[in-house]
Formats: sequence, C-alpha cells, structure tokens
Amino acid sequence: MTELATVSWSELKTFQRCPKQHEYKYTQRLVPKEKSRPLFLGNWVHKALETHHTQGNWKIGHAEYVNQWNKLFEEERLALRTRGKRVGLPFPDIVSRIMRSYLWYYRDDPWETVAVEQEFEVKTPLEVNGVRIYFKGIIDLVIRDEEGRLWIIDHKTASNIPMPTAFHAMDPQLMIYPWAAKLAFGWDVAGIIYNYVKSKPPTVPQLTKTGLVSRRKIITDYPTLMRFIKENDLDPEDFAVARKQLRRKSPFLKRYRYPREKHVTVEILKDALATARAIQTTRRRTRTITRDCQRMCPFHDLCRAELNGFDTTMMRRQQFTLKENKVVDRFGPDDYGEEESD
Ligand code: SF4
Repeated sequence: MTELATVSWSELKTFQRCPKQHEYKYTQRLVPKEKSRPLFLGNWVHKALETHHTQGNWKIGHAEYVNQWNKLFEEERLALRTRGKRVGLPFPDIVSRIMRSYLWYYRDDPWETVAVEQEFEVKTPLEVNGVRIYFKGIIDLVIRDEEGRLWIIDHKTASNIPMPTAFHAMDPQLMIYPWAAKLAFGWDVAGIIYNYVKSKPPTVPQLTKTGLVSRRKIITDYPTLMRFIKENDLDPEDFAVARKQLRRKSPFLKRYRYPREKHVTVEILKDALATARAIQTTRRRTRTITRDCQRMCPFHDLCRAELNGFDTTMMRRQQFTLKENKVVDRFGPDDYGEEESD
C-alpha cells in the first residue's frame, strides 16, 4: 500500500528559505516561547478579519486576542511594544485602529463571502520512494466579486506595503491555490487578491503648545484626520487638500489582483513538487546563513550555538516548547517572513 505524506505551503516556503530552519520547525517541532511581534500582530489582525467576514463582527476575533494579551506578563507586553528605543501603542489599540480604518474604507465592499478559512488537501502527481505526496493549506477567504467571479483572498499584514510591480508583492507559491481549489472543491477561481493591511495604525496629528497643527510629516488616513479636526474644533476647510486625497484611498490599505495564469501555475507547481521531493530525500538540513538570520529567524541563537559546538540543552529548555501534533499552518504572518522593518 502506498504511504502518504502531506506538506503544507508554509512548510515548502520554510524549506526553501533554509533547510535548517525547516528541521527546527517541522522535524524537531520547536516552538519559540517568546512571541514575535509581527507574527502576533499579524495573526491578531487576521483573526479580526476572519470574524468580520464570517460573523460580520471583527470584535469577536479581536476579543480573543485581547484576552491573550491580558494574560501576558507586563514585561512581555512591553517587549512586544518596544521597537528600538521607542515604546509603541498597546496591541489592542493598534488593532482596533487598523480595523476601524479598514471598515471605513471598505464600507461598500462589493465582495460576497463564499468561504472563510477553508482547509484543503489535494493529491499531487508526486510519489517519492513509495510515498504519495499531498499538498494541504488553508485559504483565508474566497469571495465572489461584482462580476460574479471567484477570487482567493490572502490577507497580508506588513509594515511596508510593496509596490504592485514588486516581484515579492506576489507570494508566488500562492499562485497554485487556484489549482488546488479546483481539485479540492471544483471552484473555477479567477486568481488571487492580496489584501494588504499595514501593521502600523494611522498617526494622529498633533497640536503644538501654541495650539497650531504640528507641521511634522505624518502618515494618516481620512477617519483619523476627521476625528482630530472634530475633537479640536478645527475648520475642515483648512485641511481640504489632505481630506480630498485621503478620502479617495488609504495609504494603509492596498488590494492587488493577480489573475490566474496557466504558465505561472505550472512553473510554481514544478517548484513546489521539486521542494517536496527534496524534503523527502535530503538527509542533511543545511544552513542558509544570510543577513536576515538574526532579525527574522526565531531559531537564530540555537542555530549559532550548535554551529559552534555548544551544549544547547538548557537553551532548548528555556527558549522553546515542543509542538505535539504535526505543525499545520498557513501562509501569511506565521511564516516569520512578514517582518516589520521600519
Ligand atoms: S539562523 Fe539562519 S541558518 Fe540558522 S536556521 Fe535560522 S535561517 Fe537557517
């Protein structure tokens, strides 16, 4: 009988980034105890968006994370808020400002929700040493647009939203989600929409000591500006240019559409199958050391200590727990890749 092995898109991406990181995460199943700021914040926004689309109320998902936040020690909360020397807003405030802005700009959203957090598992043509490879994943959202076409939506939180022409704006492996959706559910999906949400909330303008509006350059949005004008009893006409610009579009939200292309699907599928084969057949999990290791990899200290031949027993105990079940995750903020860099 043929054995089965499943591989998630996230797992493929981790292996492609660094086989050693893959070993720590998927073979040894190490889970860092310390919460990563982009990961925690990204998952939080993601959850709020999820309940917005399922139950019409973002506050349900938000409340789950507020609960988690309240259970953290004060030092943990402070560590998450601190970036360099600056202590930022508590996360509940950040997320509620992000979500209020999202709802304002997309208040007339023509999207009709078809499925939310849709799990799938599909058989691939790949068999390695008698093991049949299946791909699995979770689709954030499937919607029907105003023309009746189906789209797969991937929520992305990032401190800097890339330009639509940037190669990395398209998370390439996701381009096989339409292929998987067809196999798993028979859906003819038009393509992927990357739903970018900036992980920094709009900045509130400030008044100087003399009561004038500070001229410091800030990035804000329409609802935040209007609230500031109202609360300080200012004349909206004095902000006519900014109001006009910000009313049309938010600098904190972008949606990029990538229609399904057969050639791209085939190329990405071939890449994915080659990576899945390498996961099954490569014994040595090599290190891919780059300048991003220190900032982006949660296993950095461990990897470095082992490279230098140190005993890491204590470090492992102090910094990690073990994931009991096989790691199942989705693309997005859980990939340690949507790091904040500003
Ligand atoms: S620190 Fe770098 S080389 Fe080591 S596991 Fe992480 S990504 Fe790989």
